[in-house]
Amino acid sequence: MEDCLFCRIVNKEVATDIVEERPTAIAFRDINPQAPVHILVVPKEHIPSIKDLDKEKCDILADIFSLINDIAVSEGISQTGYRVVVNTGEEAGQDVDHLHFHMLGGRFMRWPPG
Ligand code: 5GP
Ligand code: ZN
Repeated sequence: MEDCLFCRIVNKEVATDIVEERPTAIAFRDINPQAPVHILVVPKEHIPSIKDLDKEKCDILADIFSLINDIAVSEGISQTGYRVVVNTGEEAGQDVDHLHFHMLGGRFMRWPPG
């Protein structure tokens, strides 16, 4: 998807602060952080949203959550807590149509979110 921002980040066509890269997924710092730790974890494959997930994508999701667990430890938020958010669709505020998992941590968070 040449017009997809996160595909361009995956392909290193757009510079970004990469936290960690694995064969199927990549993690980078959000350009507009909403918490002291705000990292986006995305599959390298162009998957538009949760709605496009099926059983065949299970391995990618396992890789993503393994990466999230490791990053939580390396960022020092594994014990204090953090939030993983996937905005899906317009009303939820999904701006980039390439599946991404927001990792937010390093501050106290309220519930429900706005
Ligand atoms: P969404 O609103 O789709 O759930 O989240 C998209 C996220 O991508 C936003 O938090 C936004 O700040 C982030 N973002 C948008 N453009 C860029 C960019 O060029 N680089 C990085 N690192 N993050 C971006
Ligand atoms: Zn994409």
